Amino acid sequence: MPIISSTRLSTKFGNFQASLHRSSHNSQSCLSFATGDLTQKNCLVRIHSSCLFAEAFHSFECDCKQQLNQTFELIQREGRGVIIYLDQEGRGHGLLRKINAMNLENELNLDTVEAFKKLHYAIDPRSYKAAIDALGDLKVSKQIKLVTNNPKKIKQVQQADYEVDRVELVYDLEEKAVDYLTVKKNKLGHLISDNFLKRLTNQSQTAVVPFTLGMMVKIKNNLRILNGIIAYLKSIV
Ligand SMILES: [Zn+2]
Repeated sequence: MPIISSTRLSTKFGNFQASLHRSSHNSQSCLSFATGDLTQKNCLVRIHSSCLFAEAFHSFECDCKQQLNQTFELIQREGRGVIIYLDQEGRGHGLLRKINAMNLENELNLDTVEAFKKLHYAIDPRSYKAAIDALGDLKVSKQIKLVTNNPKKIKQVQQADYEVDRVELVYDLEEKAVDYLTVKKNKLGHLISDNFLKRLTNQSQTAVVPFTLGMMVKIKNNLRILNGIIAYLKSIV
């Protein structure tokens, strides 16, 4: 019995069927959020690894929440698709190791890959077998549109005989998450276009401009006041 339990779930992105699956491969559990007819070809699919800090606590460190929310919006617009949600925090290492790595990044000014290496953690040992089983449980068409920039994910799904068209998302990000995305592109081989990164970098830089200009005006005004005080002091000495 791969689907253990299932319920209708109403969300800000519309109504979904939320199901809890247990994989026959490794008895790993995962969730799916599905809507519309999944059996027709070109079904939107996202296989998403959980990220508690971004998704529940709004952290600026990564783009996980944006990817999840944008996929929900995409599925809502198309009227059909599924998100498989895997409990794979910290690229499959769990919360403890994720926190250890983040702490090292902050203390030694390392990127995520450097921190994982220093801690002797495998860089990305995630398996998507449980998610692929869940696609089977839901009888998803073998021809899918996979929302991802992770080539390993594409390869594992293709190896399970799915024909994959990749869908790239476009979203805005905080500066810190842009750095993270750059590392994912350069060191983990994620398929992130230069144009998208350039747009994100420009956007995070322009976000700083009003603040910088405001600061400059403030400093200039303060200098004017200071000059006035000096002139007054000079006049009374
Ligand atoms: Zn994340």
